[in-house]
Amino acid sequence: MPRVFLFFEFNRANTVFIQKTCGQSLAVLDVMRKSLRDVQLRLHPSLIFLLAYVLLVASVQFAGVVQRSGIPASDIPGRPPVWGLLFAVGLLASVAIHEYAHVWIALRQGIQVRGITLMMLGGVSEMDDIPHESHLREFRLALIGPVVSLLLGAIFLGIHQSHIPGAIRFYAYWLGTANIALGLFNLLPAFPLDGGRALRSLLARRLDFETATRKAVRVGRVFAWILGALGVLGFNIILVLIALFIHASGQAELAQIAEKENPVRKKLKELMIRSIETVEPDTPVNLVAQKMRQKNVGMIPVCQGNVLLGIVTDRDITIRVTAEDLTPDLIQARDVMSTPVIFGTEEEDVEDALLLMEAKGIRRLPVVDSAQRMVGVFSLTDVGVQLLRQQQKLAKAA
Ligand SMILES: [Zn+2]
Repeated sequence: MPRVFLFFEFNRANTVFIQKTCGQSLAVLDVMRKSLRDVQLRLHPSLIFLLAYVLLVASVQFAGVVQRSGIPASDIPGRPPVWGLLFAVGLLASVAIHEYAHVWIALRQGIQVRGITLMMLGGVSEMDDIPHESHLREFRLALIGPVVSLLLGAIFLGIHQSHIPGAIRFYAYWLGTANIALGLFNLLPAFPLDGGRALRSLLARRLDFETATRKAVRVGRVFAWILGALGVLGFNIILVLIALFIHASGQAELAQIAEKENPVRKKLKELMIRSIETVEPDTPVNLVAQKMRQKNVGMIPVCQGNVLLGIVTDRDITIRVTAEDLTPDLIQARDVMSTPVIFGTEEEDVEDALLLMEAKGIRRLPVVDSAQRMVGVFSLTDVGVQLLRQQQKLAKAA
């Protein structure tokens, strides 16, 4: 039930907002609505604990909140646990709106969003990676959540100041302060909180994405320790859990980056060398051998135009020319080249290519594009160098 309610409310508000402020065409609006509808809101089982916790705390703090709201207790009917429940539901709805704000911007930026999960420690939007080079986009995407929470808080506090029944003003006050707290807390530069993501996007303007993430995670860890200490001192279980969560997700993010930087997980097109030396089929073998010497390679692809026909290795020349006592300048590349060629495609995983190279006993692999045109060469040496660089980076980061 809350699924429909939350979504409908947000969707309507969102539509009005787009119509009024952006003035975009109805077609765009329709796409937005459709894609937002595809974003599933999931409730994680751990919410039960949050509900119980909020119920407990809200019941205990009820009198204090009533006092701070400045509304006479006689104007507020109902028992504290009932208010605690209402508050818990309102808080979850607020978190959902915060997440939908992220989703809204993500969809506008063309990022795929799979869904939102509300769990004990808040909401999580599962979306595809933002292209690393667009720092401003991640900055906006991160900050929209806290901004919407602060706005929502301001609206609720505005309702609190209005002239409507005391009970509603009380509820507005409670949710208003909660949303302000939600907004401010998420602005903490503690990666992976929104503030931390914004910090990373700022750092990424000067540093490469991985280094920026490492620095942001390091700042986040400091905050995790501070929050954890505050939680322990104040007997605040949720705060301790959030601190643990920040710490753990920082580690997970680092591990993910290391995995992405792992050369074995990359595509051939990312590691291959593009400037390649090729020969025509009618190139005399002595010229092929000279080219090998010049470029210090043991293999040269034979191409007609860009199309890969075969390869000539130093072994081919030894066996098919020297051993046969033939005259190299009278023999052409096409006479000695090896076919069919073992090659990789640029979209192929490095891991698969390495297995292929091991099976065939080769050190250099020609790479072709989807039209079978030769686009580069992938060599074992390049992977080795990449692995070495990654090791050095990890050693520096540790
Ligand atoms: Zn957020």
